Amino acid sequence: MCTAFEIRCQCGKENARLHHINSILPEETVENVHCPACSPHAEFDAGRMLRDNGWIIAYDMDVVRLHAEKLGLSGAQITPEAVFDGGFSSWQGFTPNDLEKANAEKEQLAELASRDMQGYLKEIREWSLVRERRLHEEGWRKARGAVQA
Ligand SMILES: [Zn+2]
Repeated sequence: MCTAFEIRCQCGKENARLHHINSILPEETVENVHCPACSPHAEFDAGRMLRDNGWIIAYDMDVVRLHAEKLGLSGAQITPEAVFDGGFSSWQGFTPNDLEKANAEKEQLAELASRDMQGYLKEIREWSLVRERRLHEEGWRKARGAVQA
């Protein structure tokens, strides 16, 4: 089982949805989150924070170290990047609010499904590819691998 939860950013303007693969790390791993509006006010500490497209996630690295063995990490490997890129604690989807945005876009496509199932299946495939490419271009860390040469 994985854990998914929502956390409000420091200024209270935005919510981020986070996802913990296999629930190895507890929710309290995430100390706080800064949205693009409040991240400029955060004192950035690369030892426990990760930047992604204007957002910052601050991890409690003591909690991470406590579970490091289960993550397959040790010593200098225990970094915010390893936590995020390993999916141990990262956005649910590609971005902090990917789920809502994707659902809204999918709903628009769903209307097509009632009329033209084949067309819909083709559209939805294309949609997810185009979408990943767009998120990659926007600079989201999780969409980095989305574009094949
Ligand atoms: Zn904020």
